[in-house]
Amino acid sequence: MKKTDELRQKLSYSRKNFWNEASAKEQKVALNFSDGYKDFLDECKTERESIDYYVNELAKQGYKEIEKAKKAKKVFRISRNKNAGIAIIGKKPISEGVNLIVSHIDAPRVDLKQNPLHQDDSTTLGMMKTHYYGGIKKYQWMSTPLALHGTFIKKDGQTVKITIGEDEKDPVFVMPDLLPHLARKVQYTKKIGEAIDAGKMNLVFNSIPYPKDKETKDSVKLNALILLNEKYDIIEEDFLSAEIEIVPAGKARDAGIDRSLVLGYGQDDRICAYTSACALFDAKEKLEKTAIVYLADKEEIGSDGNTGAKSIFIIDFIADLLKHNGEAFDSSTLRKTLINSQVLSADVNAGINPNFPSVHEKENAVHIGFGVSVTKFTGSGGKGGSNDANAEFNSKIIDIYNKENVCWQTGALGKVDEGGGGTIAKFMAEHGSEVIDCGPGVLGMHSLYELTSKADIYSSYKAYKAFFENA
Ligand code: MN
Ligand code: MN
Repeated sequence: MKKTDELRQKLSYSRKNFWNEASAKEQKVALNFSDGYKDFLDECKTERESIDYYVNELAKQGYKEIEKAKKAKKVFRISRNKNAGIAIIGKKPISEGVNLIVSHIDAPRVDLKQNPLHQDDSTTLGMMKTHYYGGIKKYQWMSTPLALHGTFIKKDGQTVKITIGEDEKDPVFVMPDLLPHLARKVQYTKKIGEAIDAGKMNLVFNSIPYPKDKETKDSVKLNALILLNEKYDIIEEDFLSAEIEIVPAGKARDAGIDRSLVLGYGQDDRICAYTSACALFDAKEKLEKTAIVYLADKEEIGSDGNTGAKSIFIIDFIADLLKHNGEAFDSSTLRKTLINSQVLSADVNAGINPNFPSVHEKENAVHIGFGVSVTKFTGSGGKGGSNDANAEFNSKIIDIYNKENVCWQTGALGKVDEGGGGTIAKFMAEHGSEVIDCGPGVLGMHSLYELTSKADIYSSYKAYKAFFENA
């Protein structure tokens, strides 16, 4: 090797393409790892479905509800069917600090309004009114097949779960966009963010009137209610309290001729939920420190609400872990436990989009296929609203990844002043823990079809496992 090459290799940082670095065997493992992930994405299109998935999975893996198993080392708690804490008790006292990975299982979507069903005057079609959830580009949701996933709580307290539009034999739904021929004034004169008004995001629900009632003005709506009542035993009032989410219909797919990528809905942030839970399940026996996977809800609307990361849930769970482990669990011990703890805020980052490279700064942005991103800070403007991880902790994480042969890269969200965004990191940091953002890059984030690299999915899993085992 020439001296200059030697010096370059010794002194410079350059991110590494996983597919160049990994052995043939590891590449195969990475490609196969995504099969289970795609199944997970198909089964879990809402936060409730993600929790249902883990209730089953945790039973299979031998985890016990914390209240119900006094001596168990693998325990969990589900809260309000929407968030969860899953833990393996380590050898060291919990009060010396836990290693926690937090991700979120809600995703941007469109909800039904509480009183959604109406019959449109201009067409007589049965329609559902909607209210979007999280940061979506509204135009992306028009004229694309959609499915309904949700939960009704009937008057007698019975829960009715529905999924319509995922089975090949199911009907799907659509919010019809305007044809280009007539869009000149109504849409083309507007800014892209204003071209679709939220009030125009109505879902076509049905079109046949109730046969015996041809004359009344709501006979199509009535027919919809009759069909819903026959199939699910619900009445219109049951919608008022229900949570019905509209998501893209269909399954996650391999993408690219080499099948190196995954295209699917809700990868922000179920990619980190899945990989962190797999990392916990696969972690070596007898971890030094207690390891926790925290699956949070409500991140996409600011982590508020009693199932969001700002709620007391995770702190209460850690307090109960102290108690469960026979340790003091008074307020002071709990505070110290949190301060001694280390957290990975496992959320996706924006990969450089080849169609829009100008919003990224390539030295500091996430490159798809170059491994999991270690992100020191998020936020917007002058790092506003950012956790900004400490150099000591940042360096510790990088050191672990290097030793454990994890393909990782540094990655910031976008150019300074280009926009911005935040994660759960700052809410976890409020309690004094060391926190850093760490997750894979995504193209088309918050769109109906997010694109990720199988190299990065696998590298995230490897990074999270290395964290639990070594941090
Ligand atoms: Mn996210
Ligand atoms: Mn998001």
